[in-house]
Amino acid sequence: MLADPSMPEPARRWRERDLAVLWHPCTQMREHPDTLPLVPVERGEGAWLVGYDGRRYLDGVSSWWTNLHGHAEPRIAEAIARQARTLEQVILAGFSHAPAVELAERLLAIAPRQAGRAPLAKVFYADNGSAGVEVALKMAFHWFRNRGEERRTKFVALENGYHGETLGALAVGDIPLYRRIYAPLLAQALFAPSPDAYLAVPGESEEQCALRAADALADLFDRHPGEICALILEPRLQCAGGMRMHHPAYLRRARELCDANGVFLVADEIATGFGRTGTMFACEQAGVAPDLLCLSKGLTGGFLPLAAVLATQVLYDGFLDDSRERAFLHSHSYTGNPLACAAALASLDIFASDGVLERNRATAAAMARRAAALARQRHVADVRQAGMVVAFELCRDGDRGRPFDPALRIGLRAYRAALDRGVLLRPLGDVLYWMPPYCVDAAQLDLLAEATAEAIAEATACA
Ligand code: PMP
Repeated sequence: MLADPSMPEPARRWRERDLAVLWHPCTQMREHPDTLPLVPVERGEGAWLVGYDGRRYLDGVSSWWTNLHGHAEPRIAEAIARQARTLEQVILAGFSHAPAVELAERLLAIAPRQAGRAPLAKVFYADNGSAGVEVALKMAFHWFRNRGEERRTKFVALENGYHGETLGALAVGDIPLYRRIYAPLLAQALFAPSPDAYLAVPGESEEQCALRAADALADLFDRHPGEICALILEPRLQCAGGMRMHHPAYLRRARELCDANGVFLVADEIATGFGRTGTMFACEQAGVAPDLLCLSKGLTGGFLPLAAVLATQVLYDGFLDDSRERAFLHSHSYTGNPLACAAALASLDIFASDGVLERNRATAAAMARRAAALARQRHVADVRQAGMVVAFELCRDGDRGRPFDPALRIGLRAYRAALDRGVLLRPLGDVLYWMPPYCVDAAQLDLLAEATAEAIAEATACA
């Protein structure tokens, strides 16, 4: 099985050593390497990943949506190296360090704001996205406990939402593939219909679809008075749920409903933050500020794991007391790691020095032009875009009512076909998407579009 003569050394050797010892994330290991290729990567350069097989792969998914300014970006690499020679890690309880403080200041300065609402005021660090979600949920719950509101134990989340893989984060996720098996272990959450514009009924605008979902949210709140502590959602874009997008009107209504019901709004911008959907944060597109904002992934430019949870002063004040029990006693060993904070600061510097958001607008327009051509392909049922994310929904003959039989594994076929053409796509079911590093150039976008078109054609040829 492992003696694949077509794979050059040393790629073959790395693959053998890998499969002897590694258990990969989100992978049915039995599929490696025959059904699912395994690509040992030697280095990254801008939007490219360079394999030990000597081939270059365009990173069409920003390495799980983390990378912003390109792989091995020298300014971030240098900032990490400098920090590593100074202070690599220190306990953040009872001690502090400059990168953690500076980063908190800068995140609060750029966080979404809403007229008439107190701004986000405090930053709590964790070390990955799921942990950040756990922090936000625990904070919301604990705040009500501290006030003696013990009936407020429920979280509301959206159907088809995703917030991570740890048990708390999984409890507010609604993707059966990840959730179903662990369901007996999960805390109860309430799920409200998704405002997903793809689910609009005939004749309904995206905004009407969003408002219909908001009405259902209002009903859910009405049915559980005084029981809900927080609503958690991915603003504007449900990523793992198939890059499904919704109208910002939903977020505005959700904000109003949270306020009317005394419920905290948790915005999970772990995937949408840092310019991914066209604005620095997706919440800005609705003019809404949450009570808790979860950030990770692109926070460090994609270099190191780090999460930040931004909270309002009101939330923070709810934990101030003489008792330790009322304090938020949550911690992770690497909370606010200095290397990760230094990387994040360097990434924020690049946003300013390189005019990243402005350049992204031009890049997003270039992506839209290339995507329009793909929309005409036979099995493409929907093309949608939010800033630097473009998604292609595949259905039989482009008919939304006729999804492909999952057993055909169209997405996997497309993945392999794109890889053969030097492009890393990682479809979500039968949804192909582009989420490249922001440094992607015109020639790379051409390759991305060409490989995607061919991958769709090749993958659907079996159908
Ligand atoms: N929330 C969202 C919206 C995500 O997309 C993800 C990761 N895909 C997470 C949370 C979890 O982050 P992590 O993988 O770092 O735990």
